[in-house]
Amino acid sequence: MLAAADVIVVGGGVAGCSAALAAARRGARVLMLTKLPDPAESNTRYAQGGIIYRSPDDSPELLVEDILEAGARAGNREAAEVLAAEGPPLVRKLLVEELEVPFDRDENGSLHFTREGAHSVARVIHHRDTTGARIQHALGQAVANEERVEVLPGARVLDLIVSGDRCAGVRAWCGGEAVMLPAGGVVLATGGLGGLYRHTTNPPSATGDGVALALRAGAAVEDLHYVQFHPTALYEPGSGRSFLISEAVRGEGGVLLDPDGDEFVDHPLGSLASRDIVAREIQAMMERSGSPCAFLDITHRPASWLKTRFPAIYTHCLRAGIDITREPIPVVPAAHYSCGGVITDVMGRTTLPGLWAAGEVARTGLHGANRLASTSLLEGLVWGWHAGEDAARPHPMSVPNRRVVSPLPEAAPQDAWQRLREVMWEYAGIVRSEEGLRGGLAEISALEHEYGTSDIGDPLLVARRIMEDALTDTRSRGCHYREDALVGGGIHAG
Ligand SMILES: Cc1cc2nc3c(=O)[nH]c(=O)nc-3n(C[C@H](O)[C@H](O)[C@H](O)COP(=O)(O)OP(=O)(O)OC[C@H]3O[C@@H](n4cnc5c(N)ncnc54)[C@H](O)[C@@H]3O)c2cc1C
Repeated sequence: MLAAADVIVVGGGVAGCSAALAAARRGARVLMLTKLPDPAESNTRYAQGGIIYRSPDDSPELLVEDILEAGARAGNREAAEVLAAEGPPLVRKLLVEELEVPFDRDENGSLHFTREGAHSVARVIHHRDTTGARIQHALGQAVANEERVEVLPGARVLDLIVSGDRCAGVRAWCGGEAVMLPAGGVVLATGGLGGLYRHTTNPPSATGDGVALALRAGAAVEDLHYVQFHPTALYEPGSGRSFLISEAVRGEGGVLLDPDGDEFVDHPLGSLASRDIVAREIQAMMERSGSPCAFLDITHRPASWLKTRFPAIYTHCLRAGIDITREPIPVVPAAHYSCGGVITDVMGRTTLPGLWAAGEVARTGLHGANRLASTSLLEGLVWGWHAGEDAARPHPMSVPNRRVVSPLPEAAPQDAWQRLREVMWEYAGIVRSEEGLRGGLAEISALEHEYGTSDIGDPLLVARRIMEDALTDTRSRGCHYREDALVGGGIHAG
């Protein structure tokens, strides 16, 4: 039997690790659960580009403006101000100084800043193109060394326990049985939902679990239809996950081509137009030509330079049979990031007392209708810290620690998952319409009828909510694009 915890943290990515460390350092006994046996498996470990810090020519005010502008002015200024004020000092203290994450440095030994799309200045620090793996490793080690934190890998949370008006713990499946785990506070840090889509940069385990858990427990959820699509993921049919080909490849001169070798992005900035525009252009080209992908050509750069600048991309593509120094990379747009989620305030508190949320599962309001590149690792770090500290304050324990006899939901057949992912891609993907979304909802209902009680029940709940939010929002805004948006009536702001 596990020792009772003051705080249960669900998830072991950047947000979960940050919450666990913060709660433990406030004196709480913490239990951290991760769905998969490998506690490091998360979206965090796949992050490539970097994390926002503060360069000499930057200021909190400038960062706030960039975040709000990228979010189509739908974001929450208070959240942006918190991130801009607290994020860089926390990165310095925890990641740079304490955990010594090996961020790249220039010839003078100073941190190297890179600039990404829609940032006014270079302010992103990175470790080559594998920043997330380094951060995940460092935080995972710190959590493992923290004696007040017990990590339970391979423990999938099935339900939040609500007692009276409070979240009082979780029901989890671990070691072949269901257990009730009580806690004074629960922090949801379960990550994103890209795994609900046919093409995604997320690992298959990113199925929006935390959103479903929160919805079923009665916590408020918002903006789920703001799913950001990345235009360039490696097209690898049958791999289950699309490896990200970083925006930096286009930043360094990579050009998108159709199957005839012609440029097709119809925009003054060409292949360097914003993510949503490029993703729609690729989708339209694929529909016109019948090609399953577009092609990203960076072969004009010297091979040795490419291997040093993009070592992970070079190696991954080579394993997939593509030598990026000699041939164009087949790419497709892919679901990348969920801007919406479980509503929280700046402390990570949800609308359900006893429940906090941090990281990609949360809707802090920071991203508005679209996310500024490299803000999410920082958001997970800052909100994870807040949520951990706040949850560590003494809270009542209202349920006993016990085993329960309840079976794991039956596994849905692969065919059901495939249908769900196709339906989401087709109807709640890059370009949406009322007719499509209604058709998609009918398909979701049919899947619910057949498989609603199996383990695909929660993903179907999340998929339904994404479609419903997209149906209600008749404007095109940020990463939500309605081809039937009314110009004048609804706002057509791409
Ligand atoms: C390819 C790629 C590149 C990216 N590049 C960048 C970048 O350069 N910069 C940037 O800022 N952001 C980037 N992002 C986004 C960023 O990586 C994520 O938004 C962020 O890492 C999410 O962190 P998290 O802690 O919220 O969730 P995750 O890191 O996904 O962790 C989720 C955790 O929850 C656990 N979990 C889920 N469900 C359950 C359950 N039912 N029970 C128990 N445990 C559960 C999982 O096991 C996992 O431990 C990128 C994302 C991807 C996919």
